[in-house]
Amino acid sequence: MAIDRLTGETVELLQALIRNQCVNEGTAESGHEIRNAELLHHEIEHPDVEVQLFEPLPGRASLVARYHGTDPDAPVLCLMGHTDVVPVTADGWRQDPWGGELINGEVWGRGAVDMLNVTSSMAVAFREIVSSKKRYPGDIVYFAVADEEHGGEHGAAYVIDNHWEAIKCDYVLTEYGGTPTASPDGVMVLLTSGEKGGAARRIKVRGTPGHGSMPYGADSALVKAAAIVQRLVDFDTGPRLGEMFANRLKALNLDEEMQARLLDPARVRDALAELPPGLAKNLHSCSHMSWSPNILSSGDKANVIPDYAELMVDIRTLPGQDGAMVDDMLREAIGDDLMPSVVIEPYFPNPEKFALDPSSSSTNTPLWEALEQSIQMAYPGAAVVPSLVTGGTDSRFFRRKGIPAYGAGLLSLDIPMDEFQNRFHGYNERIDVDSLKLTTQLWLDVMDRLWELA
Ligand SMILES: [Zn+2]
Repeated sequence: MAIDRLTGETVELLQALIRNQCVNEGTAESGHEIRNAELLHHEIEHPDVEVQLFEPLPGRASLVARYHGTDPDAPVLCLMGHTDVVPVTADGWRQDPWGGELINGEVWGRGAVDMLNVTSSMAVAFREIVSSKKRYPGDIVYFAVADEEHGGEHGAAYVIDNHWEAIKCDYVLTEYGGTPTASPDGVMVLLTSGEKGGAARRIKVRGTPGHGSMPYGADSALVKAAAIVQRLVDFDTGPRLGEMFANRLKALNLDEEMQARLLDPARVRDALAELPPGLAKNLHSCSHMSWSPNILSSGDKANVIPDYAELMVDIRTLPGQDGAMVDDMLREAIGDDLMPSVVIEPYFPNPEKFALDPSSSSTNTPLWEALEQSIQMAYPGAAVVPSLVTGGTDSRFFRRKGIPAYGAGLLSLDIPMDEFQNRFHGYNERIDVDSLKLTTQLWLDVMDRLWELA
């Protein structure tokens, strides 16, 4: 079968991408995505494919490959995969994180689920269409992008802002989605149609300096900052329990009583506390603006009461929540007694440009329908459910332009959903070959349907 040959190609390409170790440490000098960009260039090179490489900084290369359709007015599909990965702590792993080894039907290594599995399967599907000389009405663009793991400034954002002509498209498929759950009512498959935003804040706290030997009644910036940390943790940012959240609960197979409680604003907090911690965490984030105070610094001398402290809070917003809402809620949580000592600012520079705004795409599109039909080829009768991811992806740059972008893929039933999520940026990241096969087939099936539905 052709799909077995293609699956073998996806496995080999995934192994090679993992071994290239394009580790994004968050610095401009890290990443070295040129290694994966050159490898992919070599893989998809063909006289009928237009390839462009963009390298805004040394080593930070992204690749755009375009295969023309027959009708210049037909919609263009972009398959986007990032080529960078996050660092590892190797001691936590049972296998070499950079080995890309195939062990008992699983490919091991950093990037195996985030997202070199998708990047490799997309390249193989793209190459298959090109080499079989199949022409669809619309162009197919393969976009292998750097720097997703640090906000996209040197990757997707750079190419979209500076070379829109090269990347121009009408629909985008990228990470991540396609997690199936089996239930008595059949299989449910989650795809991503939206993501949370990031609105990290720096909270600067002023106090009065004094001698550390006489702390009684002191106006310590650190003590006030510590009180603020506790207030932030105790504050309820309020649940948003919309349709997408309800669908997520359905897909999780929770019993009806639990679902009803989780959908009731008055009872959701108590209901979360009864769930397994991993699940509770995820459901909390899918239904609330989240605040995580992660860095607190103050003082530099052991015998001086500090007059300044700084607190960094990682904040993730839901679609419909903006920066003004974040600041209003923070002021309320901090309280009138402490607010006079406090200044709140965005944590990341250039928030207008690189802000992780919450974003979502309508599912009322031919691409969604093509995904639905294709997934039902693999899982007959499956319900395909739109869901929200709690982190940020490069989708937002396209959604800002009004272009529908979905997180897709297709996994086997062998990986429980919770376990799958723990592999993202975690230890022992790996993917089974069946999932690579399903995902490779998915891209081919979607392309076969999209232009008939468009
Ligand atoms: Zn990713």
